[in-house]
Amino acid sequence: MSDINVMRHVTKDITNEAVTDYLTNFYKPLTPELGELRTACEAEPVPIILRETEDFLNTFMEVTRPGSVLEIGTAVGYSAMFFAEKIYQMLEIADKNVFTIEKDEEMYERACFEIKNRGYDQSIRSFLGDGEECIDKMIDDMGEVRFDMIFIDAAKSHYKRFLETSLKVLSEDGVIICDDTLFQGRLALEGEIPPRKHRTNTLALREFNEFVKTDPRFSSTHLAVGNGLTIIKPIKG
Ligand code: SAM
Repeated sequence: MSDINVMRHVTKDITNEAVTDYLTNFYKPLTPELGELRTACEAEPVPIILRETEDFLNTFMEVTRPGSVLEIGTAVGYSAMFFAEKIYQMLEIADKNVFTIEKDEEMYERACFEIKNRGYDQSIRSFLGDGEECIDKMIDDMGEVRFDMIFIDAAKSHYKRFLETSLKVLSEDGVIICDDTLFQGRLALEGEIPPRKHRTNTLALREFNEFVKTDPRFSSTHLAVGNGLTIIKPIKG
């Protein structure tokens, strides 16, 4: 085997379980309270951002230093509180600078409770409804509203419309991050027909990733972190 083939062989599969376990050993919650909430969510289970995703976002935010975040897909509010805590630790801002949108009423109520209970209601504004509809309503109600970072983590088959509507409220130097864009690695199994219950999401995400990569408005990269992250930066015209 030539050296180049050896390199390909040893570097090809970087996302196996042993590597993920190794990397998640480095994970540290931002605060003990967030760590406890994570443990409870993982046990329940509630689908919150994975440890390695959080680890990446932590450093990414340290580099990009967003003062405001919009999230589509709150669940119980874990990632919204992570964003609020991170911004507070970096910039000492805690002034309704994290907006989060949840479609499911029960989840929304629970998130409001968890957020208030942990004292993050100073930083976080929660919205009940569909991501796209809430953003359009936000624009109608508030006029000029802009976010430095937008995190899309909701219905996988709606990522394209979430992205299009997010562009309306992204600040000039802002960045959009989409979670789960490798969807348990299923997207890479090109020749295989996904099982029925995953078919819609798999096909929609394949189309979405293709769209993001080929649309000339964006510079983007797909990262094999957690369940797949796509970083999207509109190109300045
Ligand atoms: N970001 C959360 C975290 O890491 O703590 C996890 C979000 S969970 C993966 C996805 C959430 O998106 C679910 O609670 C679901 O109800 C919500 N959702 C689904 N479709 C939505 C939509 N159209 N608009 C807003 N939220 C939606």
